[in-house]
Amino acid sequence: MNLSQGRSYLAIPGPSVMPDEVLNAMHHAAPNIYGSALNDLAASLARDLKKVARTEGQVAMYISNGHGAWEAALANLFTPGDKVLVLATGRFGHGWGEMATALGLEVQVEDFGKSSAVDMDRFRALLQSDSSHGIKAVLVPHVDTSTSVRNDVAAMRATLDELKHPALFMVDCIASLGCDRFEMDAWGVDVMVSACQKGLMVPPGLGFVFYSDKAAAIRASMERVSKYWDWQPRSDPKVFYQFFGGTAPTHHMFGLRKALDMILEEGMEHVWKRHEMLANAIWAACKKWSDSNVLWLNVDKIESRSNAVTLINLNAPDGARVRDWVERTAGLTLGIGLGMESTEDPNADGYFRIGHMGHVNAHMILGVLGTIDAALKALDIPHGEGALEAAARELSR
Ligand SMILES: *Cc1c(COP(=O)(O)O)cnc(C)c1O
Repeated sequence: MNLSQGRSYLAIPGPSVMPDEVLNAMHHAAPNIYGSALNDLAASLARDLKKVARTEGQVAMYISNGHGAWEAALANLFTPGDKVLVLATGRFGHGWGEMATALGLEVQVEDFGKSSAVDMDRFRALLQSDSSHGIKAVLVPHVDTSTSVRNDVAAMRATLDELKHPALFMVDCIASLGCDRFEMDAWGVDVMVSACQKGLMVPPGLGFVFYSDKAAAIRASMERVSKYWDWQPRSDPKVFYQFFGGTAPTHHMFGLRKALDMILEEGMEHVWKRHEMLANAIWAACKKWSDSNVLWLNVDKIESRSNAVTLINLNAPDGARVRDWVERTAGLTLGIGLGMESTEDPNADGYFRIGHMGHVNAHMILGVLGTIDAALKALDIPHGEGALEAAARELSR
C-alpha cells in the first residue's frame, strides 16, 4: 500500500531540510542592492557565521557550493608546486585533494580507509618524516559525509604542535558545521571551509572560508591570487559589492540571516547536544537491527561517528531496496552510498545514509527509524527487533 501522501522528508546528507522560516524569509521582493540595509545584512552574516564557527578570525563568503569553498581556500594560499598533505577518510578528502592537484599543487594523499578516523600514530609518523617541512598544509575533512567518519581535529592540532610542524591546518566542515561540535580557534584551525546547505539549513548556493591571522599573512605574501576567489576584499570590504565580488545573493542572504537567528537562539551547545541525542537514537536502533548480522553501522568506534550523517551497510542490493521502498511507499528519501564502491559495482547498492543535519528533531528521527524498520519487514531483510524501543529510550534521556 502506498502511504507516501503527506509531507515528504528528504533525509539525505545535504541539501538538508529547509525550515519554513528560512523559506519564508526568502520570499521577498527584490531588494535594492545599493542601499545600506543589505550592507548591514551582509556584515551581520559574517559576524554571526564566525560565532557558529567559534572564531574571532576572518570569513569570506562566496556564491558557490562546497567545491567553490575548497577552491577558494586553496587559491588564496598556494602556488603550483606547493606541497599539501591530504588525509582522506572517505570520498570528500579525495575530492579536496583532486581540487588541489588540478590547481597544480603537489598533493600527498594518505588514505585512512572508509570506516575509521585518521590514525594519530600514522599522522605523527607522516609529519616526522617531513623534517624539512616541505608540507605547507594539512587538509582534512572534519566529517566525511560519504563514510560518516568524524576526525579528531583537536588531536591533530596537538600532534602538529607537539612536533612543532609549521604546516597550515585546513579543515572541511561542510557537513559538520552546526551539527558536530567544532571550535575553530580553541582547536587551532587555520582555515575552515563550509557551505550553507547542510547544518546551516539554507538552499545550496553559499560557500564560506574562515581563516586565521597566520593564513592571512600567507595570503598577504602571495604574488597573485585569482581575483574572484581572493578572500581579502570579501572579508574586509570597502564597498558593498566586495562582500560577494559582484551582485550579492540577496535571497540567500535573507534565508541565511533567518537560519543563523534560529541557530544562535537555540545556542550552539544545545544545537550540538540535539544532534548528539538524535544520532545516539539512530545508532541505538541500528545496533538492534544489526543483531541479524546483515546490517551494520559503517563506523564502529562511537567517537569516530558524526552526529550529522550515518552510513549503514547491508548486503547488496538491500541498501537500494530499502531506499526505494521508503521513498515510494512512505515519502522518505535516504542518501545513497557515495564513494564506497565504483558506481558500476553491484555492491554499490549495499548502502544507505541517513542525513540528520540541521533542521531535524526527535519525531523526524523516530519517523525515519520507524519507516526503515517497516521497510526491513516489508522486504524480508533479517533484522533484530526492538530498534524503535531502543531509539525511544535514547531520546527520553
Ligand atoms: C557536501 C560536502 C562537500 C561538497 O559540497 P558541494 O556543495 O556539493 O560542493 C564537500 N565536503 C564535505 C565534507 C561535504 O559534506
